[in-house]
Amino acid sequence: MHLSKIGKIKIITHREISENNTIKQITVSKSKSGKWHACVTCDIVESLFNITKISFAKAVGIDVGIKSFVYDSDEHNTPNPLNLKKMLKPLVRVQRKVSKCVKNSNNRIKHIKRLQRIHERITNKRNDFQHKLSSIYANHYDVIFVEDLQLTNMVKNHKLAQSIMDSSWSSFLQKLEYKCKLLIKVPARNTTIDCSRCGSKVPKNLAIRIHRCTVCGLVLDRDYNAAINILKKGLKIFNQSKLPQELWEVTPVEITKWSRKQEKATGRPVVVHSVNGEMVQ
Ligand SMILES: [Zn+2]
Repeated sequence: MHLSKIGKIKIITHREISENNTIKQITVSKSKSGKWHACVTCDIVESLFNITKISFAKAVGIDVGIKSFVYDSDEHNTPNPLNLKKMLKPLVRVQRKVSKCVKNSNNRIKHIKRLQRIHERITNKRNDFQHKLSSIYANHYDVIFVEDLQLTNMVKNHKLAQSIMDSSWSSFLQKLEYKCKLLIKVPARNTTIDCSRCGSKVPKNLAIRIHRCTVCGLVLDRDYNAAINILKKGLKIFNQSKLPQELWEVTPVEITKWSRKQEKATGRPVVVHSVNGEMVQ
């Protein structure tokens, strides 16, 4: 890269800049850990014929949570990477060293640099994960429905606070919003309680991971149930009240088997329940 008054600088390019695009601005910045970055802003010439059509057949509901970062209405489950938790030990260790050092000493400066590098690595990991996941959803679906969460209220709950901050859904939703064709926030009310098939209320606390409807016999993961509810609520807004066919084709027995397998893996007890009047174990 050639910068005026500085000259030529060796750089690592992350994306090619095509010759048709004119560079409008370059922002050069230095991170706390001492790395230099250049952000190049371009005018992109796009063909007028690329006007995109939005298809409601390609709609998905996604539920964000602590155990699964995202669970969607097509049954894709993305576990929470909890980057901060994994990096917490080295973070605490270096933090302790910093506080033990004499003020303004060379050692202290050295440890502060290390601390900043760890913080930077956590941010990078989180951003990388969120960018990859949001790109997958933006490329696969036209319409994405999410819950309108009151995150500030949830962070006030201290037990959950760290996990919530760590998951940082709001920054994920921001990335999703600018990448996808249409992102709609639906009211979060009762999405975990309602049965996604018959609509009856199945109250559950945070510890209960599986949705069991005693009215229609539906058994599935609570987050999957919530994601279907979010999709249904979203489609209702657009008067597209019909659920995609696939969601109705899943038989209760199949779900039961799947659920049992999951329970075995998690070591929770297998509960007998009825499907279409027959008792299934
Ligand atoms: Zn039900």
